[in-house]
Amino acid sequence: MSIQKTEALVLRAFKFRETSLITTFLTADFGKIKAISKGVRKENSTALSQYEPFSHVRITFYEKTKSDIHFLSECYLVRYFTKLRQNFEKISWASYLVDLVDSVLPIQEKNSLPFSLLLESLQRMEECEPARLVPAFEIKLLADTGLFPSLESCLRCGRREAEGYLSLREGGLVCEACRNPGEDYGAVSRGLVKTIGFLAENDLAKCLQFKVSREMEEDIHRLVHRWIRYRLEKDLTTVHFLREVSLLQP
Ligand SMILES: [Zn+2]
Repeated sequence: MSIQKTEALVLRAFKFRETSLITTFLTADFGKIKAISKGVRKENSTALSQYEPFSHVRITFYEKTKSDIHFLSECYLVRYFTKLRQNFEKISWASYLVDLVDSVLPIQEKNSLPFSLLLESLQRMEECEPARLVPAFEIKLLADTGLFPSLESCLRCGRREAEGYLSLREGGLVCEACRNPGEDYGAVSRGLVKTIGFLAENDLAKCLQFKVSREMEEDIHRLVHRWIRYRLEKDLTTVHFLREVSLLQP
């Protein structure tokens, strides 16, 4: 077992046995990890804010080689995102971002991009309208982790069509000429391909200055959710919730 220190964001935590907690963290240096904190629930429960979702923390853990669940020895709160937690719309969207990260990222795959992206998004969300930020987050997270379907050219004939249909099975764009009528396709407009390309290539600050229409935002959500449902074989729980509270269109 080696001792490791890193910054992290809490994705979720659940009670384990009488007094322990198992927390899933998105870390700056080790990707997504799980760690057990023994005996923490014996203490005053008001001291557990560092284990709540979105909390930005500094952790020390003993890295286990034979288990996915490491042993957490220290967890210090850096930022609680109080402003975000006080606003229903912001906390709803932030819960979705955390759910998305937790659902698509494999455990212990080192990649510092998702941590930086989530941290910056939560910081910006405290100040800006959250719905504006989410499409950029969706595209950047999937692009940074290599999970996004290829939309640049038709995956069958190679033509840079910049418009066509998304083949879920093949993971990319199929142009009108190559399309088989029997397959399940979602139409992808030229505007949608261009917008997604812009969001994937530019930093969050630029993405927030870029005007994306409400319709385009919904098109991005729809494409991302179809793609995720296909990959994970389920919808995210928070997507149902966002629809129920009318933050997302059905
Ligand atoms: Zn084609």
